Amino acid sequence: MIEQTFEQAIEQKGRIFNVQRYSIYDGEGIRTLVFFKGCNIRCDWCANPEGISSKYQVMFSRDKCVSCGRCAEVCPAGVHVMKVQGSETIHHVDRTVDCIGCKRCEEICTSEALNIMGKEVTVSELMDIILRDYDFYLSSGGGVTLSGGEVSLQADFAAALLAECKKAMVNTAIETNGTTNITNYEKLAPVTDLFLFDLKQIDTDLHRQLFGIGNEQVKRNLERLVELKANVVVRMPLIRGYNDSYESITGAIEYVSNLAKKGSIQRIDFLPYHQLGKSKYDMLDLEYPVPGNPGYSSLEMDMFDQFLERFDFDVRLVRH
Ligand code: SF4
Ligand code: SF4
Repeated sequence: MIEQTFEQAIEQKGRIFNVQRYSIYDGEGIRTLVFFKGCNIRCDWCANPEGISSKYQVMFSRDKCVSCGRCAEVCPAGVHVMKVQGSETIHHVDRTVDCIGCKRCEEICTSEALNIMGKEVTVSELMDIILRDYDFYLSSGGGVTLSGGEVSLQADFAAALLAECKKAMVNTAIETNGTTNITNYEKLAPVTDLFLFDLKQIDTDLHRQLFGIGNEQVKRNLERLVELKANVVVRMPLIRGYNDSYESITGAIEYVSNLAKKGSIQRIDFLPYHQLGKSKYDMLDLEYPVPGNPGYSSLEMDMFDQFLERFDFDVRLVRH
């Protein structure tokens, strides 16, 4: 393998869609979350639909738009169109046209109705942002968490970024769906202090029904991380009717607790369904895939908490 020079590593580019500072979720302490653009699977309950496509996307807040037409005048791709409707001329986003991410529309819209999702950034640009909160990381035991989208699809960029964090003594964590090639996890393991690793469904046939692929690769990757002595918290989103059967839950706990005997899996966190990302679907002209509101009542969550007490392994319900 040919090693990169320092200059090559810090000038490496990746595509992200957001940087969120001062988060207290997704790892210990106060954290900066970097959201990677592009995902290889599609979860109906995804709270970050703007992270699924690797392409640039327009987030459009209809309620703020005054249909002034300025975005349509500057857009070189023809994404913004003004349509006559009765006596009015109304702004529309043409989703059949590819946005090239120039951000001219976002800059010219004084109503703040437009946000372009997707940005090319270098490792050094991100490090400038990350290091602004260094004192907070030190005082809180926090650091940086890479999220998405799916981070491991940009494994070289993520590894270069996390290597710089490690050089600066910044704690590092990654959220991953666990489904991509094993070599991605092998690249990321040496520079990742904590993997927040999804195991969404222990039954491979049900996993295939949900995501179009079985869970064999997920298990292989998790087992490889255990071999590599990586620090792991397994996460299971808890979605009514998708994976919250007795068999799904106890099967996942049995598999993970057995695997934990060989290595450094800390625990399983169960993350109950919420609708926090629902409004973003509307801003992207996407249909929200989950019908109704299958969230859990506090009584149901109390009962689930009690149910988890019977296991010897550390299993937690995380309530936001
Ligand atoms: S510039 Fe902003 S307010 Fe004007 S039409 Fe475009 S989105 Fe609407
Ligand atoms: S970012 Fe550029 S290409 Fe994309 S919609 Fe805005 S003006 Fe058009």
